[in-house]
Amino acid sequence: MGYKRVCISCRISVNRDIGSDSEREHPCPECGTPMLFLPHRFRPPQKEDKQAWNVVKFLIENGFPFQHVYKEGSDEYHKKPTDNYVPYPKNLRDAEAFVEKYKNQSLNN
Ligand SMILES: [Zn+2]
Repeated sequence: MGYKRVCISCRISVNRDIGSDSEREHPCPECGTPMLFLPHRFRPPQKEDKQAWNVVKFLIENGFPFQHVYKEGSDEYHKKPTDNYVPYPKNLRDAEAFVEKYKNQSLNN
């Protein structure tokens, strides 16, 4: 299990294992601003795919930095806990609906 370091404005992602220096800020190699840490489950889009990166930026700005988001209802309705996870949206229209539907799980609250 590791984390990904991400720079949204440069659209780059670097895999990183949790190590002794994980607390430190890591400047982006391209623009020098501190990179975001996202969970390993985050799948970075292709660098050329600006639309997909816009979706990522939109989700993070709205308090969804790729933490687990849960469907309505409790775990007992699902065979496995992972069945209760909501997949992250891939386009902006779905992302807007996602942010609205799951706003009570936003980290911005
Ligand atoms: Zn950068």
